[in-house]
Amino acid sequence: MSSTHYELNRDVAIVTLNNPPINGLGLDLRVGIIAAIDRANADPAVRAVVLIGSDRAFSGGADIREFGTTKSGQEPTLLTVISTLEASDKPIVAAIGGACMGGGLELALGCHFRVAKSDAAIALPEVKLGILPGAGGTQRLPRLIPLDAALNMIVSGNTVPAARFKGMALFDEVVEGDLLTAAIDFANKAVTKNYALKRVRDIKIDAPEAESYLQFARNSVSTMSKNYPAPLKCVETVAAAFKPFDEGMKIEREAFVTLMNTPESRALRHAFIGERACTKIPDVPADTPLRKIENVAVIGAGTMGGGIAMNFLNAGIPVVLLEMKQEALERGIATIRKNYENSRKKGKLSTEKLEARMALLTPTLSYEEIRQADLVIEAVFEEIGVKEQIFKKLDEVMKHGAILASNTSTLDINRIAGFTKRPQDVVGLHFFSPANVMRLLEVVRGEKTAKDVLATVMQIAKKIKKVAVVSGVCDGFIGNRMLKFYIGQAMALVEEGAAPQQIDRALEKWGMAMGPFRMSDLAGLDIGWSIRKRLYAENHNAKRAAIADQLCELGRFGQKTGKGWYAYAPGQRDAQPDQIVEEIIVSYRKSVGITPRKVLDEEIVERCIYALTNEGARILEEGIAARASDVDMVYLTGYGFPAHRGGPMLYADMMGLPNVVRSMRRFALAPGGDARFWQPAALLVQLAEAGQSFS
Ligand code: NAD
Repeated sequence: MSSTHYELNRDVAIVTLNNPPINGLGLDLRVGIIAAIDRANADPAVRAVVLIGSDRAFSGGADIREFGTTKSGQEPTLLTVISTLEASDKPIVAAIGGACMGGGLELALGCHFRVAKSDAAIALPEVKLGILPGAGGTQRLPRLIPLDAALNMIVSGNTVPAARFKGMALFDEVVEGDLLTAAIDFANKAVTKNYALKRVRDIKIDAPEAESYLQFARNSVSTMSKNYPAPLKCVETVAAAFKPFDEGMKIEREAFVTLMNTPESRALRHAFIGERACTKIPDVPADTPLRKIENVAVIGAGTMGGGIAMNFLNAGIPVVLLEMKQEALERGIATIRKNYENSRKKGKLSTEKLEARMALLTPTLSYEEIRQADLVIEAVFEEIGVKEQIFKKLDEVMKHGAILASNTSTLDINRIAGFTKRPQDVVGLHFFSPANVMRLLEVVRGEKTAKDVLATVMQIAKKIKKVAVVSGVCDGFIGNRMLKFYIGQAMALVEEGAAPQQIDRALEKWGMAMGPFRMSDLAGLDIGWSIRKRLYAENHNAKRAAIADQLCELGRFGQKTGKGWYAYAPGQRDAQPDQIVEEIIVSYRKSVGITPRKVLDEEIVERCIYALTNEGARILEEGIAARASDVDMVYLTGYGFPAHRGGPMLYADMMGLPNVVRSMRRFALAPGGDARFWQPAALLVQLAEAGQSFS
């Protein structure tokens, strides 16, 4: 299949880009565009050219399949394609519908004229990958729209509908009807009326107020994007649009190359690719037939059940919500309504939409009403006996082919599947709290989970806008299993001499959304305590989390009791250090003979983050996660890991795996060091020795 389609409409050549799904500007398409333009220029019968994409996209920009390959930099590069278009002696009209983003918009800016559908989605989103438009976007866009608008687009990366540019030089026409017809009409007009070819590079910008505006932009951008170098570079590069074009292009190129080599951009690109990669399950073919999911049942209308139900309601999928008691059901429904009301008050949801969503929700106390659901998600108490009772019942009542899912955080999905005679239909869907907000969904694959069940839940996850990562069955799945090691290090650091608030501050300064102790207070300390009590009962030699246990014994369960690792004023979420906690820590250290030492912030960060990396490596070794970027996606979307650090695995890659291993060995040998804890994972050592990395 050819990358462009070429046909004549009388004396107008129509060049249609053909690289589904979004006309990514891969090498074949770039070659194809140049060939088509050469053909049009060589044909005396052709007097103008229309360049058009598909309904979905004029072009979405670079072809991500080429990322990191030699093809991306191979001639003709996008810069070459754009200068070929711009240099053409015959008028070229870009016909823009659907997405016109990044390199796609830069391509359109190389054409002499642009006709756009009013709802075309226009953006230069490169900043979101920590870079900037590198094919003239920063130089051409400010030549066509006011400086503030151009800066806004380039610095934010946000999408703007074409209609918003009506009356500006960016588009010669903004149309509602058939795009191709409008573009051909425009091309004919350009020929008959002998329009001068508009080469954007030749436009001189006249903006007397520019310097003061640029200064304002520099100031606000540098405070707003402290962890990211790209936005400020965008401002500097746009400022260069006031220089002669070629000089500005040189500045753009240098900035582009500099940013491409920053760790921040590497992290953002890693997450961008990782988010797409995690949708693919190595042994589940892309063409696996899917089960139909048109309605959903949720069992349990508590914290999780309500949030889970909202995801489906938001996506227009009807939900039956089943509870044990009328009172709990009413409470659950009222909470859902209250959440929607809050969105309405903030102007995020109209009254009609709110009511439409509530109308999709059917409360019930009877299994009769969920019998026909295509997917049922259980979110009841975390007790195996309760789960057993529910799954036996589901096995009895649910229609053939229904998917039976559990939101359990700690229980064994294989055991739960074993309560049914259809273990192939059972899967874990581990949502994160608040389930209507958090993007992460761990899809827990049981030993017997059928491939079509997995493929179906991955598709439904996309529909409800979750980042779904597949995890094998193990204690805590990917995220919580790793978290245990992170929290374990944080607690060890407290024992050794750091205060909880120092640890939180160090990790938050490094970029974590919330330090481990504030996070524990938010999640509730009682959950970990009940797991630990079970563990102590099973294994008398298990290492005790003495300080945390003592807090729980005092009824300090975190924010919900107003006290935990910190104290909270009634109705407040501000964590205040608490004298009592300090006393507990001091007396614990005394009781075990620890002389507290000064702990540096660097040590806190290294130990807590490498604890995550090491367990992540074991998770990969065991095949619990399919790829390192899956582990990173779990942390980026579910645990407040800073986007500019890329996740615990990429961060270790960027630090250099041999250095990570050496640090672990140093921690093991330090006085009081835990040699067992710091045994580097075999995979980590192997990669470090081979000079390789996780990603
Ligand atoms: P919750 O106590 O807030 O809600 C549980 C609800 O289930 C209650 O409303 C209860 O009335 C109902 N219920 C209990 N037995 C029932 C039965 N037999 N039939 C119908 N309804 C029944 O609990 P939660 O925090 O929403 O947790 C639910 C599940 O989600 C647990 O498995 C938990 O491990 C898991 N989970 C919780 C979180 C979290 O942060 N809270 C995060 C991820 C997963």
